[in-house]
Amino acid sequence: MPEDIDSHVDEIINILHDKSDEKISKKEIRKEFERFMEYGVPINQAKQTIIKKYGENVVFTSDYSSERTLISKLKPNQSSVKILGHILTINPKEITVKGENRKIFYGILEDESGTIPFTSWSDIDADKGDVVEISNAYTREWQGATQLNIGDRVQIEKKEKDTLPKSAFEPKKYNVGELRSGIGRVEVNAKVIEINEREVEIDGNKKKVFSGIIGDETGKAQFTSWHDFKIKEDDVLKITGGYVKSWKGIPQLTFNENAKVEKLDKKKISKKDIKTNLIPMFELDEKSGGIDIKIQGTVIDIRPGSGFVLRCPECNRVLQNGECNIHGKVDGKEDMRLKLVVDDGTGAVNAILDKDLTKEILGKSLSDIKDMNEEEFEEVLRETVFAKEMFLRGNALSDQFGITFIPKETKIVEIDVKKESEKILENLEGLQT
Ligand SMILES: [Zn+2]
Repeated sequence: MPEDIDSHVDEIINILHDKSDEKISKKEIRKEFERFMEYGVPINQAKQTIIKKYGENVVFTSDYSSERTLISKLKPNQSSVKILGHILTINPKEITVKGENRKIFYGILEDESGTIPFTSWSDIDADKGDVVEISNAYTREWQGATQLNIGDRVQIEKKEKDTLPKSAFEPKKYNVGELRSGIGRVEVNAKVIEINEREVEIDGNKKKVFSGIIGDETGKAQFTSWHDFKIKEDDVLKITGGYVKSWKGIPQLTFNENAKVEKLDKKKISKKDIKTNLIPMFELDEKSGGIDIKIQGTVIDIRPGSGFVLRCPECNRVLQNGECNIHGKVDGKEDMRLKLVVDDGTGAVNAILDKDLTKEILGKSLSDIKDMNEEEFEEVLRETVFAKEMFLRGNALSDQFGITFIPKETKIVEIDVKKESEKILENLEGLQT
């Protein structure tokens, strides 16, 4: 059936469309796809293999799924996605792709399970508030959040409002610990732990912005309010209609005059209710960042660039052979740091300890470290940090290279060797009986 092959080939091109820099020839892909079919390769596997060749990873769960997926169930790298939702926001944006101007649309879609940000590469003939059924879309990860991509070959069909349950049009409740970049229409109850005010200029007008930290029993997050809700430290707020952006992987609840902010009884969440729990590294990886997080693991590596360093007085970058990447030869400022890899068995993170924490952990001052030769410094590292169990508390930031943990507090945890060996013995005995 030639039409059938066409639709598969179209789907492959659709997925590769905005991602690959290579020029993709439909003829070429069709030829490859047909060759796979001749050899009897299952359709999904054929598509997956061809896409992988162009450097993309996609998991095909079923052929042209006719089943609708709830937004909250969407994960990155799904293809043939069909969803039903209403358009919460939609905005055009001019971008330049390979020297050519293109108009794309971005916004947020919502159903009864949650919201998802979308980017569309074709003109969407629908407005804010419309209910749409979108077939053949695919998902990607963008700054730690799942995003829906609508390519040229996606079908969008407008539906009646009542095809969606009423709850699809209401804000969704979240705990602070559940806030992730990309979710919108959040309802959250939280205590204001810290608030700062600053002035920004937007289109020549001065505007006050309020930002700080909120928390509840499940964790802490940053917030930014673009409207003066007269928020004070210690207030317990019910914020309805916020959305979550992220800065370096740290979730940031953002809201403006369209949101509803109610003050609740301050005792509803007391300061001591606000917890920062020790979280496993794999979870940190899923969250892709956060503030005031506790982790614990073994120091499995000490990265080059640890110890005494010189920094550029202009931009604070660490100098390489007395030179800054940007400012050239400069008179460096003396500093020291530790770049550690900490592993808890479920995953690992890079942690960078500043001068004060380095001094505390190594028990050596900046001038001590400066005067040491390489062997002496390594000896100190072996005695104090390497292969030790370490507790860290601080912020986790992410970029394209992964997560970097910036601790404000670190501690070497003494493991009770006797207790540990007893535990191992108990387990062994358990195995023998
Ligand atoms: Zn510099």
